[in-house]
Amino acid sequence: MSVLVYAESSEGKFKKIAFEAVSYGKKVAELLGTKLSVLTINAENASTFSDYGAEKIIKVNNEKLSNFNAKAYADVIKQGAEKESADVIIIDSSNDGIYLAPLLAVNLEAGYASNVVEAPSSISPFTVKRKAFSNKAFDNTEIKTARKLIGLAKNSFGLVENKTSATEEDFTPTLAEGDFNITSTSIDKAKGKVTIADADIVVSGGRGLKGPENWGMIEELADILGAATACSKPVSDLGWRPHSEHVGQTGKPVAANLYIAIGISGAIQHLAGINSSKVKVVINTDPEAPFFKAADYGIVGDAFEVVPKLIEKLKEFKAQNA
Ligand SMILES: Cc1cc2nc3c(=O)[nH]c(=O)nc-3n(C[C@H](O)[C@H](O)[C@H](O)COP(=O)(O)OP(=O)(O)OC[C@H]3O[C@@H](n4cnc5c(N)ncnc54)[C@H](O)[C@@H]3O)c2cc1C
Repeated sequence: MSVLVYAESSEGKFKKIAFEAVSYGKKVAELLGTKLSVLTINAENASTFSDYGAEKIIKVNNEKLSNFNAKAYADVIKQGAEKESADVIIIDSSNDGIYLAPLLAVNLEAGYASNVVEAPSSISPFTVKRKAFSNKAFDNTEIKTARKLIGLAKNSFGLVENKTSATEEDFTPTLAEGDFNITSTSIDKAKGKVTIADADIVVSGGRGLKGPENWGMIEELADILGAATACSKPVSDLGWRPHSEHVGQTGKPVAANLYIAIGISGAIQHLAGINSSKVKVVINTDPEAPFFKAADYGIVGDAFEVVPKLIEKLKEFKAQNA
């Protein structure tokens, strides 16, 4: 018996959630009294996982796996799990993770719990806490199958350093023709922009900004903070911003460390997408705007006065601390 974490990477680099998943995996392995293995696909610097408790690092390198392919990746992770006799398999609940999970659950005949936020509260029965109802509730879920698949929610467990000396090995899984019935032939990525899914900080604007011509200050604030830009649904419906920036129940989920909402009312459908973020700052002219109830910090004021002042102060701060 062992625990296996699939450490997600993009263009060879691990995402922060990969380290969080390994930290989580170590905790589960300790609870089960077993060892932790980490499987990587086409990634560099896998040895860093020994800082987070990995005891074995299994590296798969294959040109055919250079773009994410849920079917092929599920096949590879299944073979890794079988090789390690893993009873608990941990992936993350990222966009790729939620495509991968159902296939992997079927391959492994495993019970799957998505959006898990804590270490198991009990090993027997195996019980995990997960976010439910668009993050408005928690659900304690018992996984009854022999093999268990856990999808860890971003920013839920944190990074826990736990130095070990890990062994490393290369692994060559068998890939079936059928794994590549659907393959992406090329990917056009936005360059030089922080994506909402990966961002630690998100600066988001709503209809209170009046029009697309006013987004310059949102972008400037985001640039200074190294943040991604986002928006409410009507803003993207009106064509002021691309749909890829729309966050909420029907848009993208945001689990940032800091979410700054400017001229957004805080409708329940918007809050559903952002309430996993750690610190929420709201700028709104209306002191009764529902967003203030969900906010950690609020500024009642006109965005057109507050945001330029914020930018000015941040520039000063950066210059003094350069
Ligand atoms: C099924 C369904 C799904 C939905 N899914 C989503 C979703 O995923 N995401 C989403 O965002 N919405 C969603 N909505 C829409 C949601 O209900 C709200 O209509 C929407 O979030 C409102 O957007 P807003 O806050 O930008 O605009 P408004 O409701 O128009 O609010 C604008 C806010 O800006 C403030 N303001 C005005 N001027 C200024 C100024 N100068 N400075 C500062 N503040 C100012 C106002 O006080 C107000 O609070 C959904 C709705 C439905 C029915």
